[in-house]
Amino acid sequence: MKTSEFLTKLFFPRKCPFCGRILRSGGDGAKYMCPDCARTVFIYSKADVLPHEALEKVLKLYVPLKYTGPAKDAMLRFKFGGERWIFEPFAGLLHRYLEANSGYGDIDLITCVPLSAARFAGRGYNQSELVARKLSESSGIPFRMLLERTSGSGGMTSAENYAGRSAERRFAFKAGTPPLRGLRVLLVDDIFTTGSTLNECAGILLSNGAGYVNAACMMSGRQDIYDAQREESA
Ligand SMILES: [Zn+2]
Repeated sequence: MKTSEFLTKLFFPRKCPFCGRILRSGGDGAKYMCPDCARTVFIYSKADVLPHEALEKVLKLYVPLKYTGPAKDAMLRFKFGGERWIFEPFAGLLHRYLEANSGYGDIDLITCVPLSAARFAGRGYNQSELVARKLSESSGIPFRMLLERTSGSGGMTSAENYAGRSAERRFAFKAGTPPLRGLRVLLVDDIFTTGSTLNECAGILLSNGAGYVNAACMMSGRQDIYDAQREESA
């Protein structure tokens, strides 16, 4: 171990994102959370039973954690409490989940839902981008920022690309990005709720040439996902 690595481990030991307890090295089952939290934090076991009806533009959705209790608390600290470090255990859990469910499959590119400039300025980081970049590092699949925020419904020639759609448009294909020409994209976001953000972003990627779009979110509080899993295992 290099001295710098040793010092990093000494002063910034790996912690459980849910309770803050310091994790002992080794014992890979507990690498990203402590054994107690591993028992109490609900992890969806299967990816292929998630409901798709809210996500017509997304081929497959992957969500490892239920947005409740300590998991929800950790997400709120990550998003609003300035606890940037949580991206690492979160990305670790999501990576493991994607691997276990063939979530990387034929994916060519990883990208994420962009944050508005105001949010980014307030927070100093885009939580989904941190996770997505870490997934890229772990999987070896390149990360590219493919989307950007528009400043709301005004501006842009949205009528051309979104004929027939209502005016509200929050995202756009990032200026200067080459067409995707069939590339298969994994779109990363933090919480799956209505699916409207993921669906809008996936639609933009598809209309710019993506072969298909899968989505990976850290958590969801949707009861329908939970029910589907319980029926499956009953
Ligand atoms: Zn814990």
